[in-house]
Amino acid sequence: MRLPDWAKKKLGASGGIHAMKAILRKRGLHTVCESARCPNIGECFSKPTATFMILGGVCTRRCGFCSVDKHQSPLLVDPHEPANIALTAKELGLRHVVVTSVTRDDLADGGAGQFALTIKAIKDTISDISVEVLTPDFNGDEAALRLVFDARPDIFNHNVETVPSLYPVVRPQADYRSSLGVLKAAHSDGLLVKSGIMAGLGEDGGEVKATLRDLLEAGCDAVTIGQYLQPTRNNLPVKEYVTPEIFKEYEAYGLEIGLKHVYSGTFVRSSYNAEIFASSR
Ligand code: SF4
Repeated sequence: MRLPDWAKKKLGASGGIHAMKAILRKRGLHTVCESARCPNIGECFSKPTATFMILGGVCTRRCGFCSVDKHQSPLLVDPHEPANIALTAKELGLRHVVVTSVTRDDLADGGAGQFALTIKAIKDTISDISVEVLTPDFNGDEAALRLVFDARPDIFNHNVETVPSLYPVVRPQADYRSSLGVLKAAHSDGLLVKSGIMAGLGEDGGEVKATLRDLLEAGCDAVTIGQYLQPTRNNLPVKEYVTPEIFKEYEAYGLEIGLKHVYSGTFVRSSYNAEIFASSR
């Protein structure tokens, strides 16, 4: 399918990319920006900002949209990772830090403890900082979620990623209702809750709007909607390039039904300009 002009992202200054990569390599850190081949990497790394990806660079699930390395034998958990992220965030002068992870179904707590340690390390190292976590579903494990909730991230983000009818192809090892349950639990615990979906995977507009209603009902405060772009030839194909007008329509609909913040556009990703919602709280 031909890429329309509006879906072509210009690369930012490459100097910013090289400088950020050097800092990340120095401390052995991963980012979803690189692993997921995010189209915004030039812009974000040049700011500079990045979304740290904890628990290694290898995922235990096989989601069709995602280009992060997948393997049944992921890496050991690095005990220095929380401190290294905190030091890197400080070196970069970040005021809002987004931390995500690969899914670690092999770990007893799904990696929730490492999220908690990372939140604590960042808050202990940098005063007046906000931390947003973008977590996996932890298979809905309440004890794992409790570890993350008790670390009190400023924003709890978990993406449902797509409409429920597309779960079998997009998130075959996940469950839409279970993800809504994770969001509900975070809301019930008094956290600010965010989620996101991709458009262009074959959903229709009515399904997107129904998902926005589900997210509102689950207690979401903020939702991001962005165009799915096939990261590698091994990932799901793009079914449609959603027009900027339709993205605006989704945004207007989300706000109309009562979501506090909806960020919708071709290059919107969960963590894209995440500081805007964080600072508007
Ligand atoms: S939008 Fe998010 S994932 Fe993409 S480059 Fe920016 S910070 Fe990284």
